[in-house]
Amino acid sequence: MLKQWLNRFFKTNPPPADLYCPVCNSHPTAFVPLSEHYIEQWRQHGFPYTDAGEMTALETYSCPACGASDRERLYALWIKQQIAEKTVFEGDRLIHFAPEACLSKQLRALNFFDYASADLMMAEADHQIDITDMLFADEQFDFFICSHVLEHVDSDDKAISELYRILKTGGRGILMVPIVVGLEHSQEDITLNDAAERWRLFGQDDHLRIYAHDDYVNKLQYHGFAVEQLDQAYFGAEVFQSLGLKPTSILYIVTK
Ligand SMILES: [Zn+2]
Repeated sequence: MLKQWLNRFFKTNPPPADLYCPVCNSHPTAFVPLSEHYIEQWRQHGFPYTDAGEMTALETYSCPACGASDRERLYALWIKQQIAEKTVFEGDRLIHFAPEACLSKQLRALNFFDYASADLMMAEADHQIDITDMLFADEQFDFFICSHVLEHVDSDDKAISELYRILKTGGRGILMVPIVVGLEHSQEDITLNDAAERWRLFGQDDHLRIYAHDDYVNKLQYHGFAVEQLDQAYFGAEVFQSLGLKPTSILYIVTK
């Protein structure tokens, strides 16, 4: 009875094309801008790419309900789509590096994946490991999420080759880094210890590099990954809008 009523109600009163957070399933009236702290640090240190990030929607950055960032919302949506399309399977072994709190909580609550988290620093992670030298045997995981980790480690090449090694053949991963639209080549300096210089060059005091699109894709392919780039044309402009994403956002899915 209730179901019939709801169907009739939504037929005559379709829900507005509103904002949606796929991490916590809420429909906020607005997303929250990126913290002023970053804007201020970038201004102070003369970081030139403030608004040139491929993702990082400055005005619609986080979900007011769960705190998920724009990129986390895109990961959650894509994962839900994969479950619906049966391209991932119940019990698939998923490892989540530097786990974003809300996304991690939701993935555990889903009770779909055989889920584990990993991080070098976080005491609450299931595995305290160095991503450039992991204690896992080869081909252990069906899937990984590794978002905004590679810009922090001394050797992103070592980390990528480790991610490739622990993934099963045919396994996939969400592998994301900060990319500057229009930057010709990735820039890095792992010897730089000066916080102010790191803010100026790489946009954060614990970043050792910043990526250019082509260099990033080439690097992933060099280590053996096939790279899918899922953009606004793939998801649809309306979906991007309802998730509060920048039109330039790209989801990088790697396959071994
Ligand atoms: Zn949310």
